[in-house]
Amino acid sequence: MLVDHHCHLDFPDFAPELDQVVSRARDAGVATLVTISTRIRKFDEVKAVAERFKDVYCSVGTHPHNAHEELDIPLDEIIALSKHPKVVAIGEAGLDYHYKNSTPAAQAEGFRRHIAAARETGLPLEIHTRDADDDTIAILEDEHAKGPFPAVLHCFTGGRELAMRALDLGLYVSFSGVITFKNSEALREIARDVPLDRVLVETDAPFLAPIPFRGSETSRRSSSGQRRRSLRRKVFHLTILRPLRRIISSGFTARPNDRTPFRPLSAGLPQHELSMHNIGLRLVGWGAAHWNELGRM
Ligand SMILES: [Zn+2]
Ligand SMILES: [Zn+2]
Repeated sequence: MLVDHHCHLDFPDFAPELDQVVSRARDAGVATLVTISTRIRKFDEVKAVAERFKDVYCSVGTHPHNAHEELDIPLDEIIALSKHPKVVAIGEAGLDYHYKNSTPAAQAEGFRRHIAAARETGLPLEIHTRDADDDTIAILEDEHAKGPFPAVLHCFTGGRELAMRALDLGLYVSFSGVITFKNSEALREIARDVPLDRVLVETDAPFLAPIPFRGSETSRRSSSGQRRRSLRRKVFHLTILRPLRRIISSGFTARPNDRTPFRPLSAGLPQHELSMHNIGLRLVGWGAAHWNELGRM
């Protein structure tokens, strides 16, 4: 069984058939999904999805795109919201210099506040970082010096330096459908060097369907929004898992991991028996009060 630790089930793309989406995920072997918050002020919607399905959990946080809109929300409020029994992570927060929808200063302030929330609660931070490797490394190392915090670089598309420095801080690295793209060879090279027990997988649905399920860009562009959305729903979960599983089982170098401060869930298991369920579950289980409930699934 698999855990999709990063998807956005509250997005309108899924609204018309959320039940079917979740049941298709189950059919595809996804035991647990974590639906990720992008605006604390819309947390109620994310929470409602998590409350509706037994096997869906959620996070609380502000995406870097929206950082400037929610800097008035204090750390205490993030921590208070994270006490909800379905919250298993903080974020997503971080730095996105690709779009720069928020100023770098606002993003950095939000990022540091979410790191503080992760440190305080022990819940892993879902880090979104794009085209911002240097500043991400600087903030991670500066904050780590104040005290460790659990975190994952979600939908990793950064450079080798960022991946390796993050691993040194005990972070996890998560790969999405991007790893299957034709021009992602550099990313696959990095992924091969991430210890298997620090790898997580995600769909980031409704974004980032993997090869070979992306369809031709031309046909998608010419199709109506409705058709595009239904294509996305169709590829959701049924798709990303097989290619990722293949890549991970065949191409990854499994190395003993002696750098993580966290006890590996897979301790004692031979590397080849590490299932993606274990890998994903570790993130969900970390610091979550309902670890045992998840462990029985
Ligand atoms: Zn993201
Ligand atoms: Zn996301």
